[in-house]
Amino acid sequence: MNRAIEKHIRFVLEDDSEVMSAALTGDLDEENKRMNRALIKRHEGILAKLDNGETFSQDDLQLIRAGNEIHLNNGANLNGHHKQAVKLDRWLDHMMELDKDKAMQILEQWLDKDGRTPARVYRALHTLWEEATPNDAVPEPAFDDQGRCLTCGSKISFADVTDTVVFVGDEIVKRYDGDITNRNCVRCNHPEQYSDFAHYDDDGGSPACGANRHQSGAARR
Ligand SMILES: [Zn+2]
Repeated sequence: MNRAIEKHIRFVLEDDSEVMSAALTGDLDEENKRMNRALIKRHEGILAKLDNGETFSQDDLQLIRAGNEIHLNNGANLNGHHKQAVKLDRWLDHMMELDKDKAMQILEQWLDKDGRTPARVYRALHTLWEEATPNDAVPEPAFDDQGRCLTCGSKISFADVTDTVVFVGDEIVKRYDGDITNRNCVRCNHPEQYSDFAHYDDDGGSPACGANRHQSGAARR
């Protein structure tokens, strides 16, 4: 790592910790004091990594970026660290992982700076985005082929059904039956309501059911 970057990271973290520890003597409430202490500890950990030449985690980089922000935004350079802050911010751009949302945001932001960017460039960008995030991704199944919860073996689930209704004014003139969405095991997700339905689980009597329930007993704390 570049010496100047390293020096500025130290400055950013030490400066931030100083502000937070000064606040500890003020009339901050307990929760905020606790958070300040935790952050100061995190800063110390990052500084120790710097001393030992260890690699930063993404969380470390996030904290460094948060600490640098105040110096970055200080365009008037009141404390004489603005230039270093800009350099550190660029360095962080290289070091920090970019998720799809952020990548999309950056590209659009830069394209927007040029009024001559043709619409098809944006369309191409959105097509790539759609490719990268398939809407039809199949989530992990939560129920077995007999509709038993894979976690606890219960057969009882709540499901939301979304119908589409056609209103004319305040009157419903047509209703399209909806799809089942959000099917959730009652025992796992709504334990307070489970007793109302538990008898449906008890009357099954198939051997698989008993075995499942036995398993679930252990899994249920
Ligand atoms: Zn369950």
